Amino acid sequence: STFEELGLHENLLKGIYAMKFQKPSKIQERALPLLLQNPPRNMIAQSQSGTGKTAAFALAILSRINYDSSNPQAVVLSPSRELARQTMSVIQQMGQFTNVKTAFAIKDAIPKGSKVDAQVIVATPGALVDAVRKGQINAKEVKVFVLDEADNMLDQHSMGDQSIKAKNLITSKPQILLFSATFPDIVRNFAAKFAPAANEIRL
Ligand code: AMP
Repeated sequence: STFEELGLHENLLKGIYAMKFQKPSKIQERALPLLLQNPPRNMIAQSQSGTGKTAAFALAILSRINYDSSNPQAVVLSPSRELARQTMSVIQQMGQFTNVKTAFAIKDAIPKGSKVDAQVIVATPGALVDAVRKGQINAKEVKVFVLDEADNMLDQHSMGDQSIKAKNLITSKPQILLFSATFPDIVRNFAAKFAPAANEIRL
C-alpha cells in the first residue's frame, strides 16, 4: 500500500517524502488505519525499534491536532531522555510542513514558573507528572497519549507508577497508544489496564 491510500493530510505526505520514506512499513500499514478511526480507539501494539513505530504514532498525532489551538493535545512518554529527543526529532521532521509546536518535559527542561506552550509534548514520566502538578502543562485538551517502550519502562524503578500517575492527571480521556517490543505477563497485564478496550497489533 501507499501513504496516499492512508488518507493522510497533504502536509504530512510532504513531510514523509522529505524524510525519503517511499511506502509504509508493516506497522504503519497496519496501525495507521486503526489509529485514524473515529471515534478514536486505544491501541496496544507490539513493535521492536527499527520497525517504524515512531513515525506511526507521529503521523497519528499530527493527524489529530487542532492547529488553531496552541494548547497541549498530545503527550508521548519515553523511558529515557535520549529516546525522548529522537522521538521529538521524528515528530518535528514529519510535521515540518505543518505549524506544529513541540516541547520537551524532561527533568530541568521547563524553566521554573513558565508554562509549556506547545501542541505536542514529549516527556519522561516523572517530569510530566511534576510539570502537570506545578501547573506548567495544561492537560485539559490532550487527546492522544502515547506510552512508548512499555517493557523498558516497567523495568525501571517507579516508571510504571509514574506513567499511571501521568495518565490519571490527564482528565480529558485521551486515546491511549501503548507500544512495547515484548509482552511478558507483567507488560500484558499493565497494558490491559492502561489502554482498555484497545485494538491490538502483533507483528
Ligand atoms: P523506529 O522503529 O521508529 O525506531 O524507526 C526505525 C527507522 O526506520 C528510522 O530510522 C526511520 O527513519 C525509518 N523508517 C520509519 N518508517 C519508514 C518508512 N516507511 N520507510 C523507510 N524508512 C522508515
